[in-house]
Amino acid sequence: MKIRLELQDLAHYPFLKEAQEVIASRGYSLRTITGNPENRIYLDAAVDRIRDAAQSKKGRAWTDSDDPFLDILSYGLARILVSCIKNRSGIATLARYEAERAFFFLQTIEKNDALRLHIFRELDMPLLGDSMSYTRYIEITQTLREDTFRLVNRDLSQGQVFLSEEEKDLLLRERIRTLLLDQLPLDLPESVCDSLSVHLQVIQSIIAERTVEEYGDVEESRFPPCIHALFEAAVTGKYLTHSGRFALTTFLHTIGMDVTEIIRTFSQGSDFNIEVTSYQVNHIISQGSDGYTTPSCATMMTHGICSGKNAKCKLISHPLSYYRKEKKQNKRPASKINSSGQNNEEKEDI
Ligand code: SF4
Repeated sequence: MKIRLELQDLAHYPFLKEAQEVIASRGYSLRTITGNPENRIYLDAAVDRIRDAAQSKKGRAWTDSDDPFLDILSYGLARILVSCIKNRSGIATLARYEAERAFFFLQTIEKNDALRLHIFRELDMPLLGDSMSYTRYIEITQTLREDTFRLVNRDLSQGQVFLSEEEKDLLLRERIRTLLLDQLPLDLPESVCDSLSVHLQVIQSIIAERTVEEYGDVEESRFPPCIHALFEAAVTGKYLTHSGRFALTTFLHTIGMDVTEIIRTFSQGSDFNIEVTSYQVNHIISQGSDGYTTPSCATMMTHGICSGKNAKCKLISHPLSYYRKEKKQNKRPASKINSSGQNNEEKEDI
């Protein structure tokens, strides 16, 4: 059934295909936007969207903008901008923001049941009344940690999982987030990103600031034991397996260590070759696939690089969570590492 969508609806849910149709029907394309200085407002709005995403806090509210078309277009352009910088944290930030934003509108203002159903259908979340097939349910909830979403805790009948209205929206929120994570970065020609260089510089500094805000300075003494072991092995030139290098690189990149520092971390290895290491590091940190992110504890265990597990590990399921917790809980000054991977101050035990 075809439903009528207002421009404001599409501004709330700009991931719907109808939103892209509106942009095309008005004659906008990336070429017309970058080629006409008058259209700079759209790129500025996309930068503002990413800035808003980077500064967004849990439980925030959104209001309707005066210009729904600007909202729709800025969504598409924000996807392009974060794709060009190929920074996984930037992509994850935008994905979370878009999911939260849509969830907010669904929860607070959405009275249109037909639109609601349309969104679920468009995102490949077929509902049968208040339930969903358990196979689809498992796929959508695999990234959710809450016990309440575990299949063993659900009402299941004839292959269908029952869901409350709020749970449906929560699942939709997760679906939007993971969909964006899967879709981004977009595969864009280099010339497209070159034409956006001015805006990309702003985005890069927004994401860098957010990383600093989230993780602060890089502090080796707060590393989880597994990463600490990998880091020590790297800076002392010991052999690291591919998965060890991968986990260490993605971890260091996520917490804000710049690429040169990461490459330097590996420089003591007997087989160190700056060109090969640069290529490998840049390849790992610019990948958009799932392989890009720091592995979870479960994956680290599978690869045999979960070493030195301690009591604090029981409280987390991801090395980054361990680090974040450590940074939050330990207010006392900690040792920082310098560019050669050595501590400036005496090292503290985790
Ligand atoms: S449990 Fe997780 S954080 Fe702890 S050592 Fe193993 S992989 Fe690292």
